[in-house]
Amino acid sequence: MAFDGEPVLSGVDLMVARGEVVVLLGPSGCGKSTLLRAVAGLEQPLAGRVLWDGEDLTDMPTHQRGFGLVFQDHALFGHRDVAGNVAFGLRVAGLAAEARAHRVARSLALVGLEGFEGRRVDTLSGGEAQRVALARSLAAAPRLLMLDEPLGSLDRSLRERLTAELGVLLRRLGLAALHVTHDHDEAFALADRIAVLGAGRIDRIGTPDEVWDDPGTVHAARCLGHENLVGLDDAGRCALGRLGSGPGIVLLRSDSLSVGAPGEGVSAVVAATSRRSGRMVAHVLVGDLEVRVPVDESIHGVRVGDPVGLVMGHDAVVPLSS
Ligand code: ADP
Ligand code: MG
Repeated sequence: MAFDGEPVLSGVDLMVARGEVVVLLGPSGCGKSTLLRAVAGLEQPLAGRVLWDGEDLTDMPTHQRGFGLVFQDHALFGHRDVAGNVAFGLRVAGLAAEARAHRVARSLALVGLEGFEGRRVDTLSGGEAQRVALARSLAAAPRLLMLDEPLGSLDRSLRERLTAELGVLLRRLGLAALHVTHDHDEAFALADRIAVLGAGRIDRIGTPDEVWDDPGTVHAARCLGHENLVGLDDAGRCALGRLGSGPGIVLLRSDSLSVGAPGEGVSAVVAATSRRSGRMVAHVLVGDLEVRVPVDESIHGVRVGDPVGLVMGHDAVVPLSS
């Protein structure tokens, strides 16, 4: 894929299995939407192919591919009611009125909007509008469902609730799904596999545990929400000691770090505390290196200024490539 001669994506190789939810994770502008649009047939790739069960769809028009696409802005038709929106593709496909109404009711039930047929779309909440957009895609019984940051415009608490609901729904439908987001929490909540996209290529792909434990690149580690990326000098050293054989960046996995009593592990001082989803995080200083460490408050609390020990598990240090 290229715009103005500049390639946006290259060498992307991605497979989605039946019933599998693959999440494409990456920052804004990295080419996520372009990739979805290429799979959907809305953009024509300069090179590469789109295959389904071995069949080459690269030259097939969008509407014949049997793929559903849900956008961030929902793209609902404001002048139609909910039923009119959900039925839109079915009418285009020439389905008879009775079959259409049946399919609309079933799709609305799937997303928990039974009886919404007659509602005007401009009276819907953001979450309801999102679910109508999802119902519209599901009505056409797609073999692959693609969701392009479908929850991006909603506020955080609603987004978290809908993410959980969407996960349950995708599992129940057993559909192949390709879900795009820049939010690592959303990716971990939904994915069977996560593909981290950066600079037009897939940096890392694997199960949530695989990519979290070993992100591979600095970019992927940041996208996945890792916070402790530590630079090493020519001798592989940093304030924590020798963590590698030469210069580079390593990741300290927060799940392998803990705060101990002074004297345990490496001497550190608590510089600040914060919370992630309610769980306390201590920002400890070792020399001038800040490391963020989850705190198990059922064992002990920490306060700013406390001297503590930074305890690192045997698998805490993960080398990264640039
Ligand atoms: P993402 O969805 O990850 O935010 P996009 O796929 O939308 O990223 O865009 C990838 C890159 O391609 C960006 O640099 C964007 O500016 C550029 N781009 C997207 N669509 C077009 C277009 N129609 N014409 C020119 N450049 C585009
Ligand atoms: Mg996009």
